[in-house]
Amino acid sequence: MPRHIVCLSFDFDTMSGFIARGLTTPTALSRGEFGARASTRILAFLQSRGIRSTWFTPGFTIETYPGECEAVVKAGHEIAHHSWAHVPPAAQSREQEEADIERANEAIRRLSGHAARGYRSPSWDLSPTPSIFCSRMAFSTIRALWALTIGLTGRGGATWRSLGSPIGSARRRR
Ligand SMILES: [Zn+2]
Repeated sequence: MPRHIVCLSFDFDTMSGFIARGLTTPTALSRGEFGARASTRILAFLQSRGIRSTWFTPGFTIETYPGECEAVVKAGHEIAHHSWAHVPPAAQSREQEEADIERANEAIRRLSGHAARGYRSPSWDLSPTPSIFCSRMAFSTIRALWALTIGLTGRGGATWRSLGSPIGSARRRR
C-alpha cells in the first residue's frame, strides 16, 4: 500500500495581516481575533486525529495571544517563522526586513525554546535577497513560492530548486 505524506500547516496571523494592510476597522480586527479563538478548535481537532502540524506564526501573534500560542507548542506542533507583523518583505528596506526576521525569531525562541526552522513569507512575497537573512537564521526551508522552494545549504547560502509543475498544469497537458 502506498504511503502518503501530507504537510499540514496554518498561518496563525490573527489580525496582523489586516493591520499590515491598513485594515483596522472593527470587522477586520474581529476577523483576526476569530483566528485566536478558532485555534483552540483546530488544536482539539488535530489532537482527536493524532495529527501534528506547523503553525506559521508572526511575532505579533505570539505577543498578543501568548496563551493560545503556548497551547500550540504544548500540543506538540511546530511554530515556524511568519515575520513579526505580517509586512511583506518586499515593502521593507533591507535593514527593516532583517530586524523583522530577527525580532520574530526571538519571540519564537522565547515561546518554543528554539529558533524557527521554517519560514513562510507574509503575503507570499519575498524581497530580492531573502537568502542572506534566512541562511543566517538557519531556516531549513522557505515556503513562499508556488512552484519553487529554496533549499538552504548550510553556510553556503541558498540554492533554487524546482518542485515541478503544479498538478493542475499536468492535467491540462493530457
Ligand atoms: Zn499569513
